[in-house]
Amino acid sequence: MPLLQVDDKGLACAAGGFWIDPWKPVPVAVITHAHADHARRGMGRYYAAAAGLPMLKRRMARDADIVAVPYGERFELGGVTLSFHPAGHCLGSAQVRVEGADDVVVAAGDYKRPVSPGTDPTCEPFEVVPCDTFITEATFALPIYRWDPPEDVATDIVDWWDANRAGPRERQKVSVIAAYSLGKAQRLLALLDRELARRGEARRRVFIHGALEHMIKGYRDQGVEMLPTFRVGESNRARGSVNPFRGHLVMAPPGAMAGPWIKRFGSAKDVDTAFASGWMRIRGVRRRAGYDRGFVISDHADWPSLVRTCVETGAKKVLCTHGNSETLARFLRRQGVDAEPLATAYGDEEDG
Ligand SMILES: [Zn+2]
Ligand SMILES: [Zn+2]
Repeated sequence: MPLLQVDDKGLACAAGGFWIDPWKPVPVAVITHAHADHARRGMGRYYAAAAGLPMLKRRMARDADIVAVPYGERFELGGVTLSFHPAGHCLGSAQVRVEGADDVVVAAGDYKRPVSPGTDPTCEPFEVVPCDTFITEATFALPIYRWDPPEDVATDIVDWWDANRAGPRERQKVSVIAAYSLGKAQRLLALLDRELARRGEARRRVFIHGALEHMIKGYRDQGVEMLPTFRVGESNRARGSVNPFRGHLVMAPPGAMAGPWIKRFGSAKDVDTAFASGWMRIRGVRRRAGYDRGFVISDHADWPSLVRTCVETGAKKVLCTHGNSETLARFLRRQGVDAEPLATAYGDEEDG
């Protein structure tokens, strides 16, 4: 019997009596990261990487029983040895290494690989963990998905912001950028901080939607350097001809962009919208979503990184979850790797 198997509750380890990222209540849950499709409420006890604890706590009920374990430290559940290893997806995200009597399985959760030296200043980079079976995500598993160096994307974002704040104040636009609340928002704030420093410019403040505040604070508490942020308050609502947001950058979760929230920044001609996401690689997606600009930056591995990672683990067997799992499995099979899709409930989060 395989060490890990999908059942109706999640990725189950019968020998160890636990589930990885379960989607239904279980007594013992091992969590890869705090995104909504991986970390759900209602579990008896949680095990998670210590670096992700502040973010996980914000997702969970106040009295949730969470055991935090540092990266690399081994612990036992049943007769099975586990350890967490950095996944490079967001702060505290972890791969779970599971060692049974006969084999080692690594469930990577969501992950990304560095594509440049400054890929992500907010979290530890992915660690290749040798294993017999590797469970990989396949969110962006199509050859068209290839990421540019994120430093270049940060340059593009500041150029866009500067173009919107050129000229006299009354003609400046509000730059509103959509970013997912855990991972992407903080990564952008860190990358933009570095980009302004590189240009020899002073730090600028960024206005944020209230839904971003908690996770940004979680990152700041862990010492992550980011641009200063101010919450867009009700009292800051633009009135009459005075629009206090002109020339500024506003960051919000994608869900806020279509609603009435964005109206406070003025009419359509006063606002320039953008979305920072791997999905922006497809021009039609941006156009249909109605954004003025798309910046291609993702916290998931791109196609070359997915293929490279599956090979580098040395795994004899690769199981693919999320998104284009069939495409990745088929490609790996052609390279001589025993690979197949694994049906799970992951991947329907706001994440990309
Ligand atoms: Zn995720
Ligand atoms: Zn996911």
